[in-house]
Amino acid sequence: PALITARGLRKSFGPTEALRGVDLDVRRGEVLAVMGPSGSGKSTLLHCLAGVLVPDSGTVEVAGRSVSGLGEAARSRLRLTEFGFVFQFGQLLPELTAADNVGLPLLLNGTPRARARTAAGAALARLGLQDAGEKHPTELSGGQAQRVAIARALITRPKVLFADEPTGSLDSLAAENVLTAMLDLVREDGTTVVLITHDPRTAAYADREVIVRDGRIGAVVA
Ligand code: ADP
Ligand code: ADP
Repeated sequence: PALITARGLRKSFGPTEALRGVDLDVRRGEVLAVMGPSGSGKSTLLHCLAGVLVPDSGTVEVAGRSVSGLGEAARSRLRLTEFGFVFQFGQLLPELTAADNVGLPLLLNGTPRARARTAAGAALARLGLQDAGEKHPTELSGGQAQRVAIARALITRPKVLFADEPTGSLDSLAAENVLTAMLDLVREDGTTVVLITHDPRTAAYADREVIVRDGRIGAVVA
């Protein structure tokens, strides 16, 4: 059964048609890789699925609930409570420690500070970073920083993890280690994942793969 259902998505930026009619189902609990050339519309698709962007036409539903029809405040709330996000880089707040970065989504959700700190420690430990909690982002390796970002994205136990090139800034060994650590956690939690990647070795870990070309789904590989 589909957790995310997208129908007829179109999105333009001025004269650029980034999405030209996308239909896509993301199944509950699957890891879906989104591949395709640079500029083909992958990020725009992810942003529409996640309620970051509103499509010009078409619909997105998550668990039977319209995302594309919600206003800005409701989409923002949905992103905070139901979704997690990981990007290629630049996502940790440099003035906060690793533990405070990880606990931030819980504080924003109204969780008491002490409980957020305990949960952040546990989330870091799940990624092998139990000793890195008091470090600042500049003191972490690239792979450690991405693990902290993953811990932060998963700390709210989101329904969906949206990942845009999460290991794209790492060398291939670090990339594989970070990717498999992330996938172990999402498989354990049953989290649905939409994973943009340029790397076929990364896509090989996914349950299914869709190829985006010129704003359309060009192929689905099971
Ligand atoms: P991909 O993620 O596959 O590289 P994107 O979804 O980022 O592709 O972009 C698809 C197309 O839309 C590209 O031509 C890109 O330049 C354009 N685009 C994306 N976002 C914007 C924006 N905010 N403003 C203008 N053009 C954009
Ligand atoms: P990628 O190719 O890895 O998807 P990009 O560097 O194309 O990443 O885009 C990064 C971000 O910038 C995306 O959120 C996208 O929507 C936005 N973006 C892409 N192209 C443009 C553009 N021409 N003008 C403004 N924003 C853009």
